[in-house]
Amino acid sequence: MTEKLYLADSYLRKFEARVVSRRPGGVVLDRTAFYATSGGQPHDTGTIAGVAVTGVEGEGEEVVHAVAGEIPDGPVACEVDGARRTDHTEQHHGQHILSRAFIEEMGAETVSFHLGADRATIDLDVRDLSEGEAERAEELANRVVRENRPVEVTWHTPAEAKGLGLRKMPEGLDRVRVVAIRDFDRCACGGTHPARTGDVGQIRVLGWEKTKGRVRVTFVCGGRALRDARERHRALAAAGAALGAGALDAPVAAAKAREELRALARERDDLRARAAESEAAALLTASRFVRAAYPDREAPALLVLTRFLSAAPEAVFVVTGKGCLVAGCGIGVSHDLAPAFREACAAGTVRGGGRGRLFQAAGGTDPAALEAAADALAKRLAAELGR
Ligand SMILES: [Zn+2]
Repeated sequence: MTEKLYLADSYLRKFEARVVSRRPGGVVLDRTAFYATSGGQPHDTGTIAGVAVTGVEGEGEEVVHAVAGEIPDGPVACEVDGARRTDHTEQHHGQHILSRAFIEEMGAETVSFHLGADRATIDLDVRDLSEGEAERAEELANRVVRENRPVEVTWHTPAEAKGLGLRKMPEGLDRVRVVAIRDFDRCACGGTHPARTGDVGQIRVLGWEKTKGRVRVTFVCGGRALRDARERHRALAAAGAALGAGALDAPVAAAKAREELRALARERDDLRARAAESEAAALLTASRFVRAAYPDREAPALLVLTRFLSAAPEAVFVVTGKGCLVAGCGIGVSHDLAPAFREACAAGTVRGGGRGRLFQAAGGTDPAALEAAADALAKRLAAELGR
């Protein structure tokens, strides 16, 4: 059996231990401060005799440390990676506080916890969560942090534990470890906890989503909350600067810019349509059979022109733009363009399709191939239609 030192002292980082048994790529120590992956919290890392610990897993009453090299029998010096442990403790204990806060504010029980690399989540046994409820739970959780309440760890028989009003009651244990936040929360837990709630730092609810009849709340605590706030502030300041506004004015400036952009797009479409109408009229005055090339014109603008051409009586047209070809015929032309279009596409490197009176092709990166296909198509159509 491995003695789990972190159960009595979760601040312990350096300790000595002996190797009591070995596994392929791993060792079991007589005592350890390394936390094994469990309860939604990832394992600790660090070193044993200077060798990196890459994984820690529970195996019955023993703890197996995956190591990246040879470990002597010992005694060996061991060290837990303090930054990683502190981060995990902040998120884990922050979860205890936040879970209780959701019970207090809206009677929502936590059914699961996951500690990810950047963010942590809890699943609440409710169908929905309002902005106000989330804010109230966050307020209460942070008040408990600021009050810096003592966190006490005690051991009990299952019978005793049942009478303690625990948030979560484990099954099948001889001894139950109870982690209590004074006058706030009691929970059976074998995880790593600080001595006082203040060590968690700020608790921030970042958002939530509905999932399988429950609500998944994403949150960050302590150092992660600080980094998240910093990143958001930077992003907002950059957005503001891009819009010529201060960070906090960025949302209003962005909404205004978007409105202006929409108005400009409407104006552009209107102008483009009027220009295309005049252009189509000029082309058709010269001939009802149109073969024209606009090498710099993008497909959307080209399609505005062909919309007017296909509305004109007796028109037949083959026009090219930047990487695109549009062919079609106007009102009163009953000729089937499909065979000629297919042949022109097959001969070149262009791909396209269509039906009825309008066909489109994209010419890839070879403008010459597109123009050649368009010329071939125009030639065949002129022959077929006798124009
Ligand atoms: Zn815990």
